Amino acid sequence: MNRHILVLGGGLTGLSSAFHISRRFPDALVTLVEKSSRLGGWVSSDRVQVRDEHGHVAEILLEAGPRSLRPNGQSVLELINLLELKESVITVPNSSSAAKNRYLQIPETQGLVTLPNSLTSVLSPPMRTMLLPNILREPLRRGNRPKRIKDESLDSFMTRRFGPTFARVFGSALVHGIYAADSRQLSVRAAFPSLWEMEDRGWGSIVRGALRPSWTPAQKDYNVGDVPDLMKGVSVYSFSDGISTLTDALASRLQLLHNVSILRKTTVSSIGVTSDNDVEVKLTNGQVLNPTHIVSALPLPVLDDLLTASSTLPHLKANPTSSVVVVNLVFPQSRGHLHPSGFGYLIPRPLTGYSLENSGILGTVFDSCALSAQDSDATNFTKMTVMMGGPNPISSSHTNVDAILKQLSIHLTAPDDLLKALPDPVYVRTQNHINCIPTPTPGHLERMEEMKSTLAHGIWAGRMEVIGAGVRGVSISDCIESGKRVAERLIS
Ligand SMILES: Cc1cc2nc3c(=O)[nH]c(=O)nc-3n(C[C@H](O)[C@H](O)[C@H](O)COP(=O)(O)OP(=O)(O)OC[C@H]3O[C@@H](n4cnc5c(N)ncnc54)[C@H](O)[C@@H]3O)c2cc1C
Repeated sequence: MNRHILVLGGGLTGLSSAFHISRRFPDALVTLVEKSSRLGGWVSSDRVQVRDEHGHVAEILLEAGPRSLRPNGQSVLELINLLELKESVITVPNSSSAAKNRYLQIPETQGLVTLPNSLTSVLSPPMRTMLLPNILREPLRRGNRPKRIKDESLDSFMTRRFGPTFARVFGSALVHGIYAADSRQLSVRAAFPSLWEMEDRGWGSIVRGALRPSWTPAQKDYNVGDVPDLMKGVSVYSFSDGISTLTDALASRLQLLHNVSILRKTTVSSIGVTSDNDVEVKLTNGQVLNPTHIVSALPLPVLDDLLTASSTLPHLKANPTSSVVVVNLVFPQSRGHLHPSGFGYLIPRPLTGYSLENSGILGTVFDSCALSAQDSDATNFTKMTVMMGGPNPISSSHTNVDAILKQLSIHLTAPDDLLKALPDPVYVRTQNHINCIPTPTPGHLERMEEMKSTLAHGIWAGRMEVIGAGVRGVSISDCIESGKRVAERLIS
């Protein structure tokens, strides 16, 4: 055991890298350091008991962070196979309304607009005017990417090809749903590389590029067993006990391994290379560790603060991060449905920009519609999650329950109907997640290459790897993939 690999941060990225590293190097000592008593980082699923006025009781699963996964993430399917989690998977079929129906809520209007899921819905108002002409015109528009640019914001990219209204309504809503960020700040190449490639493939047109097949060979080194069979015809999925099933299973498996030790409630206080050329990590409990390799799965700005003056890395604080208020609401059964059947809705950037005048809401997920199998006696209750903040400035007047219910009733009442009051929720939980999602800004990919080159050639000489949501992508699948690949990169 002369190789000692220190993994910093016990979120999804740190846990999955410790798991893959311990498999690849069974003779190495692997130590995972996490400042909190709980492992999982932003992944956090809890079960709460609720009761309505008629005495109906249910155990409802609430997610504070991520709640659903796309079936195309091979690295997640691999973990499901290796950790034997197949029995806990809950799938949402493509044919269900939760998969087919997604909505937009146009600020300053009442009600929801259905996002097109078929040709006929593209032809119905308001999509007929908002979406169709821009898409039909795009392939006829000449290639207009400026020659010297290597990256740009998603908003500028979409504005070039589809016009400013399309970019504001559809682009900003998409970015609110994934990054809780401003599409005018987000790098198109880092966040949506396939769109940039489509423009290349289509000789300047995204639509033409989408119609031409891509020849990127798929990686085939995932040990997925028969898990892909479960995912046939599936839109999204989760687990009966929520996404924490993944992080809990990783933690339990790591605890069983003789070569892995997990230090919880242990904070890293400094990271560097000494004058004797030793890698040195100090912990707030006074311990000093000299591992052969470090894998940092810490948020990049946190890592920046911990590096000693002689061991710094470039660009760790180049990107902003979004903060999100997550409000879980459970309502008692009422006459008629509280919301239309579907996955939920997103709210685009208001025409007048982000301001305190707006509701502060980024979107709402209709959890019961997709994932009611997580809850006992779910038929008597409706579960929704409102996401607030990101680029929207918010104050306490936005996050109080009455203000949120008032906004929800505007969103959930059909246009031209009298405002429908929502019943009082039987359970409300509000959590303010500060700096929870990084926003890669234009130039991010080049900056990360420079950072990696400093790690490979400078004082670190390949002895540290930096991964996590701030480096590659923020999705669960990106985080697990980076944990898998880092194990392969560590010098054998
Ligand atoms: C509200 C929300 C909803 C989301 N929804 C989805 C979704 O539906 N689907 C999806 O795919 N993705 C979703 N994501 C994104 C995804 O959950 C995250 O990108 C991912 O969990 C990040 O994992 P990570 O391990 O890289 O970082 P983190 O979870 O931030 O982990 C970093 C860890 O480092 C620890 N740490 C920090 N400082 C120190 C220190 N000094 N010493 C020791 N430890 C330290 C922290 O305590 C933490 O545990 C969502 C994220 C949020 C916040």
